[in-house]
Amino acid sequence: MPASISLPRSLPDLSPEELAAWMQAKGFKPSHAPRVIRQLFDAGVSGDRMPETLDEQLSQAFPGTAASLARRQVSEDGTTKLLLKLPDSRTVESVLMPDYHPTRASGCVSSQVGCAMGCDFCATTQTGFERNLTSGEIVEQFLHLRREARSAGRTLRTLVFMGMGEPMLNLPNVLAAVRRIADPRLGAFGWRQITISTVGIVPGIEELREARLGVHLALSLHAPDDATRADLLPVGKRFAIEDILAAADRYQAESGRITTIQYCLLDGVNDSLAQARDLARLLTGRRMHVNLLRYNPTGLSLRGRTYAPTSVEQTETFLAELRAHGAIAHLRRARGPDIDAACGQLRRRAAQPAAL
Ligand code: SF4
Repeated sequence: MPASISLPRSLPDLSPEELAAWMQAKGFKPSHAPRVIRQLFDAGVSGDRMPETLDEQLSQAFPGTAASLARRQVSEDGTTKLLLKLPDSRTVESVLMPDYHPTRASGCVSSQVGCAMGCDFCATTQTGFERNLTSGEIVEQFLHLRREARSAGRTLRTLVFMGMGEPMLNLPNVLAAVRRIADPRLGAFGWRQITISTVGIVPGIEELREARLGVHLALSLHAPDDATRADLLPVGKRFAIEDILAAADRYQAESGRITTIQYCLLDGVNDSLAQARDLARLLTGRRMHVNLLRYNPTGLSLRGRTYAPTSVEQTETFLAELRAHGAIAHLRRARGPDIDAACGQLRRRAAQPAAL
């Protein structure tokens, strides 16, 4: 399947400039384009209505939605996982996570259908890469998550690109979506509320820096040395840890944002005290903080291995060792353990009805 295919365009696919050009061609005031998109963003919330003739013509010109809800799982802890159906019937996952604060929530969106990166412990990559998401399909995920948050009495406060896919391999569409989501004219969100994650595609980090959007950067490191990392993440054979961290340093210097290091603890693989010390050493003198993640088992890995989560005791010991050696580190709360919480699991289950 080619990486980019032509899909019917929906309203969330359009930038304010593209919509302005369309409105001008149709005899409407192009200066109203941001307002039209703002109304789309606020559908069901603001009482504003656009003129009927414009509404009708927009519905005729852009009849489809970029992504519609196909399945929804709600965990006992309130984590809500959405399976969204795209115009070509492919599916993608988005997740809403309630915050400790009772009125706030965080969202996680996907950037690709499937993933080509082959990280050995990840469920998404097991079905391979299918295609990049359009900017509209990413924006639509954000809109779904905002609606979910509102119906749960919360406000979506942060958005992370940590769902299916590697954002840096679909950067033009990711950036186009971020520009729309955080466009002050559209009034939805701020740059600082957005985090883009990568497994360490150095040219992508450089491109993100050059875009000067001021969003947060997260690195999925998962190991403190190149050999262990390359065994878990094939991308580790292309980019050395020092080169990835140097690119993140440049990003940090440009954006002023502290980089997050994502580290998923796997029993007996990357969770020894020596590895904690190595990780702390890598971060010495850098403005980075570590997010330790609990592994959600996903069955046999791509290479036929079975990974297990690090025990609670070893996790605490690893965290303490990191801190004792100067690293700023936190343990991220496990989300939705009673649903298909790992990235790609719900989609895989939906594709195998017999497993339900
Ligand atoms: S962890 Fe992320 S980058 Fe790696 S295979 Fe899974 S979705 Fe792709």
